[in-house]
Amino acid sequence: MGSLRFDGKVVIVTGGGQGLGREYALEFGKRGAFVVVNDLGSTPGGVGKTTKAADNVVEEIRNLGGKAVANYDSVEFGEKVVKTALENFGRIDILINNAGILRDRTFKRMSEEEWDLIQKVHLKGAFSVTKAVWSTMQQQKYGRIIMTSSPAGIYGNFGQTNYSAAKMGLVGLANTLALEGKKYGIQVNTIAPTAMTRLTKGIIPEAAGKEMKPEYVMPLVVYLCHDSCKENGGVFELAGGHICKLRWQRTKGAVLRELGKRMTPEDVKENWDAVVDWKETEVVQTIGESTMKVGEAVARINAGD
Ligand code: NAD
Repeated sequence: MGSLRFDGKVVIVTGGGQGLGREYALEFGKRGAFVVVNDLGSTPGGVGKTTKAADNVVEEIRNLGGKAVANYDSVEFGEKVVKTALENFGRIDILINNAGILRDRTFKRMSEEEWDLIQKVHLKGAFSVTKAVWSTMQQQKYGRIIMTSSPAGIYGNFGQTNYSAAKMGLVGLANTLALEGKKYGIQVNTIAPTAMTRLTKGIIPEAAGKEMKPEYVMPLVVYLCHDSCKENGGVFELAGGHICKLRWQRTKGAVLRELGKRMTPEDVKENWDAVVDWKETEVVQTIGESTMKVGEAVARINAGD
């Protein structure tokens, strides 16, 4: 099998100065891509900034014979990030939305500022950079975009309401972008990784962390961004060398309404076991399929079944 090359492709990696982003940026550089290493250089909590983080990775890529430039803007200012790509390399093919910070606190103690900051960096940041590449990708009828979600968003995680909300928001953003981008050759996929980085130091136990290197997350991201990959709208959970795809599953449920009868909360109580019974399940992959199921239920009700 030939190696996956990215010669002539231009990649933006947000938050590319450290952790997971650094790993992606280096690998794209090694595989022939022109890389924009975006990084604000803030603390894990989103305080301060430095040019060092992005500069170091750019230097590493150049030392390996690759081509890279740094951008130090916050992802909140997507136009500026994309301008660096267009000015230096004249196009943009791949966007890895990866920049992120944490402001963990139980919901009771969480301030509005902590809530807003996390939405601003993760959700608004990914929106802003994606918005800035979208027209270019549409016009050239090609694009690969990655959103970085988290198991904390998908399953919830104590003390992370702000982060969980933003990370699940990214799944929603990607789900719809995947539909809107399809006819333009733009593929949007989401990853929910776990890896030992400065963000998870002290959260992931050290022994487990040794098995969760960023280099085990990188291969999926690189593959999803390759020409040969046709995946679109996927959500992948991965860590420690294991990769899997997620989807929605629902119970068969119960139809509670009867013709000519008012549907009541008591009906819900009475049928609760059936509503939540996982013995029979169905997978619904599109909003169209979901609507069809409603149509089927309504038809059964109207037929008096
Ligand atoms: P990291 O702290 O090592 O790297 C994040 C980088 O983003 C830093 O270099 C930081 O300076 C940069 N950054 C922060 N705010 C920025 C902004 N506004 N604009 C531009 N750059 C900014 O963290 P990481 O673990 O590599 O995390 C990368 C992404 O993966 C984040 O979105 C994170 O939420 C997500 N994630 C990580 C894990 C994990 O286990 N490490 C799990 C789930 C999701």
